[in-house]
Amino acid sequence: LVEAARVRRSFGGTVVLDGVDLAIDRGEVVALLGASGSGKSTLLRILAGLDGEASGNVSVPASRAVVFQEHRLLPWKRVAANVTLGVRTKNAASRTAAALAEVGLADRGDAWPAELSGGQSQRVAIARALIRQPELLLLDEPFGALDALNRLKMQALFSRLRAVHEFAALLVTHDVDEAILLSDRLLVLDDGHIIESIDVDLDHPRAVDTPGFATLRRRL
Ligand code: ATP
Ligand code: MG
Repeated sequence: LVEAARVRRSFGGTVVLDGVDLAIDRGEVVALLGASGSGKSTLLRILAGLDGEASGNVSVPASRAVVFQEHRLLPWKRVAANVTLGVRTKNAASRTAAALAEVGLADRGDAWPAELSGGQSQRVAIARALIRQPELLLLDEPFGALDALNRLKMQALFSRLRAVHEFAALLVTHDVDEAILLSDRLLVLDDGHIIESIDVDLDHPRAVDTPGFATLRRRL
């Protein structure tokens, strides 16, 4: 579904991505781990089509949706209007209601973004992504700003959504446990490259033994 080859990006004279190769299958959830400043967000933005300066070959589906760490809702639009924004089908209203119900906010469509908690706002951001029925979700530390309880709730929500919808996802996270819990495969970004790709097998956990993980743990 996603193919990226020899992706390079530098800022000024500093090379951040130095030839990144990655592929994501249809329906596959891949976690992207790496130290702060390793280029995770840079890579996600490139896959989202938000960076015109990168070089390399990138092929991503047109139907993709991005969820950032901060919700980026429009404060002057009500919750439902934020979710519907840009969706131009005649059943947009019922799809919006369904998407809000799926994230547990069936009764908050008329609220203003400022009236929501951080966790609720992130739920709206996820509803806004889901309503587009994306083949690919790009998530940049989507639960990173939440307290521990809300993070757990969102992880559970993500697992439920995944069972229902057929999206593939790239999930950027700092949380190794979250990565193992939610993804099929872990990628470790270091020094401008993907240095490790590890299949997650909850019955035979071995992720912690690999050299890439040792590097990551030293740098986190
Ligand atoms: P974090 O875990 O803290 O979110 P990250 O892995 O997402 O880090 P990036 O945000 O991708 O890291 O940044 C990678 C490097 O690129 C950093 O050194 C950062 O300063 C630099 N960088 C990113 N965007 C820009 C920009 N627009 N202009 C200049 N430098 C940038
Ligand atoms: Mg980042």
